[in-house]
Amino acid sequence: MADNADNSFDLVILGGGSGGYACALRATQLGLRVAMVEKDKIGGTCLHRGCIPTKALLHAAEVADEARSGNTVGVKTTLEGIDMAAVNSYKDGVVGDLYKGLQGLVTSAGITVYEGEGHLVGTDAVQVGDQRLTGSFIVLATGSYARTLPGLDIGGRVMTSDQALTMDAVPRSVVIIGGSVIGVEFASVWRSFGADVTIVEALPHLVPLEDEVLSKQLERAFRRRGITFKLGAKFTELTQDDDSVTVVLDTGEKVQAEVCLVAVGRGPATDGLGYAEHGVSVDRGWVTTDERLHTSVPQVFAVGDVVPGLQLAHRGFGHGIFVAEEIAGRDPMPIVDTTIPRVTYCDPEVASVGLTEEQARQHYGDVDTFEYNLAGNGRSKILETSGVVKLVREKDGPIVGVHMIGSRMGEQVGEASLIVNWEAYPEDVAQFVHAHPTQTEGLGEAALALAGKPLHVHA
Ligand SMILES: Cc1cc2nc3c(=O)[nH]c(=O)nc-3n(C[C@H](O)[C@H](O)[C@H](O)COP(=O)(O)OP(=O)(O)OC[C@H]3O[C@@H](n4cnc5c(N)ncnc54)[C@H](O)[C@@H]3O)c2cc1C
Repeated sequence: MADNADNSFDLVILGGGSGGYACALRATQLGLRVAMVEKDKIGGTCLHRGCIPTKALLHAAEVADEARSGNTVGVKTTLEGIDMAAVNSYKDGVVGDLYKGLQGLVTSAGITVYEGEGHLVGTDAVQVGDQRLTGSFIVLATGSYARTLPGLDIGGRVMTSDQALTMDAVPRSVVIIGGSVIGVEFASVWRSFGADVTIVEALPHLVPLEDEVLSKQLERAFRRRGITFKLGAKFTELTQDDDSVTVVLDTGEKVQAEVCLVAVGRGPATDGLGYAEHGVSVDRGWVTTDERLHTSVPQVFAVGDVVPGLQLAHRGFGHGIFVAEEIAGRDPMPIVDTTIPRVTYCDPEVASVGLTEEQARQHYGDVDTFEYNLAGNGRSKILETSGVVKLVREKDGPIVGVHMIGSRMGEQVGEASLIVNWEAYPEDVAQFVHAHPTQTEGLGEAALALAGKPLHVHA
């Protein structure tokens, strides 16, 4: 427990995850005295139970697939099996190294960390154990937790991503309830590790928040990989015994598996923390803010997953930096959700930024789109991946949405993000020469085509 003689700070941050620690680091750079309260480990969900461990598993899954398929490029390989203890030790090693690095950053920045569960006890005060911390400003950054559905009790063979990340064996079969980001990422890992996987999704498509072309392509790819999915199907009942779980769907169909992953979204971690009691307006648990992340209490801000919208670590980083600069009077640009890039790291990867075609039509009326098929992209061919790059532009206007699917396409999202955020026209992007052979050419080709001068595109 940190010891600060008067316990008063410029800024007290409740929660040391992506949003909280980014805010703390930027605020100390700006000369503010910062206290950060964390009940578990700084780094939060993303570092310990989210982005990093899942992507480590996905990398191990990719290596397994490469081992299986070496022969297709003439390299003699076989997959002998998955040693889950070794996979977990690799994953935990990655997390551990990053955690050490983050602790070093926080210490050298001079942030005072209080270990323990904090509660808002005034509009300028947080209580941690027997210490009362006061701040000219308070930032609520307590994040989110894995939700479940009525009738779906977590325990035994039924788990959320928290437990799924610590499994010490590959299950023979899994039923995953929820076909959005977390559901499809685990489906991808387990399938690569050899499990039989069934996804149950209530909406008509996998990754239902993405442009429909990406959902359809992902469904095709998953079908080819032998991943089963039931779309437009709702869970109604679950039973488990010593050997298996049985999930009953509203269609009457039953799915039996060794384990069940519940991946139905994440709720705000705000219950019982004193927010509403001190005038912070809360809507079904979410902390509502204006676009400058002010809550209903002038000196209290909120960042990250507690604020309704995209639940992404880099949104939390962006929010945190924004609020530190706002408090320091730097007049930063608000973070707008539609400008934040999104990546789903299953195989194939799904990456996007900006508006889907449907959203763009609702917003602008008339739009132009182009879908570049990666079959014509040399690097994608070499990597034996298929997919598309789809651009959506306002009629005769800038590109307002980029939607991509294919192996490694997540790495293209940086350029896509610059295009959308700088409101580039296809004609602007078409002028930039993309290196050959790279997958970035997919974006360049799509822009060339939308600008009326397609290159490797069959009429
Ligand atoms: C399986 C999974 C995979 C994910 N993959 C990605 C990905 O690839 N990319 C991506 O961008 N996002 C990903 N996310 C989402 C990402 O993890 C979150 O968006 C991000 O962690 C939100 O940051 P945050 O700071 O708002 O909350 P959190 O990271 O949840 O941090 C909140 C912190 O507050 C602490 N806390 C809570 N209450 C209190 C209290 N009362 N007192 C003290 N401390 C408290 C918690 O212990 C926690 O450390 C993933 C999430 C999951 C679950």
